[in-house]
Amino acid sequence: MRTIRSICVYCGSREGRDPAYRQEAALVGAGLAARKISLVYGAGGIGIMNVVADAVLKGGGVAIGVIPRHLAAQELKQDGLTETVLVDTMHERKQIMFERADAFAVLPGGFGTLDEFFEMLTWKMLDLHRKPIFLVDSAGYWAPLAGLIDHVIAKGFAGPETRDMIKIVSGAEGLLTAITGLKVESGPKHQARLG
Ligand code: AMP
Repeated sequence: MRTIRSICVYCGSREGRDPAYRQEAALVGAGLAARKISLVYGAGGIGIMNVVADAVLKGGGVAIGVIPRHLAAQELKQDGLTETVLVDTMHERKQIMFERADAFAVLPGGFGTLDEFFEMLTWKMLDLHRKPIFLVDSAGYWAPLAGLIDHVIAKGFAGPETRDMIKIVSGAEGLLTAITGLKVESGPKHQARLG
């Protein structure tokens, strides 16, 4: 085990309707920079993902963006990421974001964010990795998702252990408290690749 060095943040390419989403995203970015935890994300210059990245950079932190070439024209953040990794496909993007992160944080977002969340959860269910997954609930945004997860388990389509594979935290403060000094696994499982 070693202390966390990087976290992959999944979140919206839009800002959503409640200003709390943006405010919490900025606090997450500032908090990562202050803790010297690198941000790994989809390299977007739009939505609340841009708010997180801007706050990381403003705080002197490290922001690593991973983006497919075909999305770069629409989404790529133009100013000052610490490192931009250009890839050919969405699958390659997800794989690299996965490999470069010690943990995952899911802030409010849309269907792209949900896709990324469920992929990390299902890979964990298949024991392809054991990295922590934090569902960051800003202004109650993820309450329906938490309810859906409990429903799927209650109705017998996933085991009760699935619930322990996710930690629901309250806003930026909840996330930052949970990851401060967090010990993560190193070794083969930590770098698992899809078969
Ligand atoms: P969204 O949460 O829908 O705003 O999407 C957040 C990010 O996820 C976007 O910046 C996209 O690059 C990415 N994304 C969108 N759709 C998908 C998808 N089907 N699979 C994986 N990533 C996606």
